[in-house]
Amino acid sequence: MTDTSENWHPETTLVHGGTLRSAFGETSEALFLNSGFVYETAEQAEARFTGDDPGYVYSRYANPTVTMLEERARLFEGAQACRGTASGMAAVASAMLCQLQAGDHVVAGRALFGSCRYIVEELLPRYGIESTLIDGRDLDAWTTAVRDNTKLFFFETPTNPTLELVDIAAVSKIAKSAGAVVLIDNVFATPMLQRPIPLGADIVVYSATKHIDGQGRALGGLVLGTTDFIEEKLAPFLKHTGPAMSPFNAWVMLKGLETMPIRVEKQVANAAKVADALADHASVLQVLYPGRTDHPQRAIAEAQMTGGGTMVAFSLKGSKADAFRFMNALQIVRISNNLGDAKSLITHPATTTHQRLDEAARAELGITETTLRLSVGLEHAQDLITDLTNALARAGS
Ligand SMILES: *Cc1c(COP(=O)(O)O)cnc(C)c1O
Repeated sequence: MTDTSENWHPETTLVHGGTLRSAFGETSEALFLNSGFVYETAEQAEARFTGDDPGYVYSRYANPTVTMLEERARLFEGAQACRGTASGMAAVASAMLCQLQAGDHVVAGRALFGSCRYIVEELLPRYGIESTLIDGRDLDAWTTAVRDNTKLFFFETPTNPTLELVDIAAVSKIAKSAGAVVLIDNVFATPMLQRPIPLGADIVVYSATKHIDGQGRALGGLVLGTTDFIEEKLAPFLKHTGPAMSPFNAWVMLKGLETMPIRVEKQVANAAKVADALADHASVLQVLYPGRTDHPQRAIAEAQMTGGGTMVAFSLKGSKADAFRFMNALQIVRISNNLGDAKSLITHPATTTHQRLDEAARAELGITETTLRLSVGLEHAQDLITDLTNALARAGS
């Protein structure tokens, strides 16, 4: 294992952290695309299973390429331990199910990625775990929702799709006094722009599918937290239920981490320019971007984020038909529910990612029939602005 110097800057950790070189001395990280491992002797096999010999046993438990990713992500995030999973949803579900049991209660911000909301609202109650969804922006709502059996606070910030913010430090404080664990889905902020652990969070989850891969190739997830939580609760759950990350996907993510700082920096710069251009356009009703001074929670953005993010939410004047005409007229920006990609992607949440919710629930989240969520990519900002303004000219026609 490479020793990381405390003096390394984040970019250096993301290129070198966690590298395990094989006997061949390869430069790029090796891809250990194997399911099992062989033992020199029967005694060694026995020792691996008792844990006396720390080597690898089976890739559902651990794999060297996945270990390299986990270690690099751990060093970068400043967490004690990390485990990779097959997808972001495997990370969220495992982080919850490995520590909750029937009779427990979860409080969650209601503005959640669709599948996260499904887990909290529909799946957990089926196993006797109660949940309360609240407006995560409202600190009193967190306090009021706490019960004797509250074990976990869960939220994302910025939220999907309208980029509302939750005050991580303030909510973590409420959780601590309630004896609850704070689990944060940090995907929208990216690992570059927001560090939940120093702000008080206990566990951070990522869909590595998004900015960590960043090029739309592979699914993956990461769970980061204390050694106690990861080794005692999460690791046995993953080992015995099997949502393991593929070594191939871990290898893609390792290479993704190397370029993440320059990609995210450029995407944030593009997003800021795009947000400003949209805000100035007569056909646009509202722009929500945490990097703009008119974001309703600007002070929280400044306190806990080091950039406005790669996502822009906006709504158009007019109807759903205008929003669809606009989307269909785009030439560079592609219609997709994915995000964090090198390619700019746009989605109409009301009819796709948030279709499952009824109109009242959508209204609570600020999703109207012209709300659009734009994931800004690596194209030239001016080409994106030209594409968006050309398409806006078609929206009202
Ligand atoms: C994409 C996403 C997930 C789920 O990740 P997958 O890798 O698609 O399983 C969870 N939370 C947020 C905020 C996401 O954007």
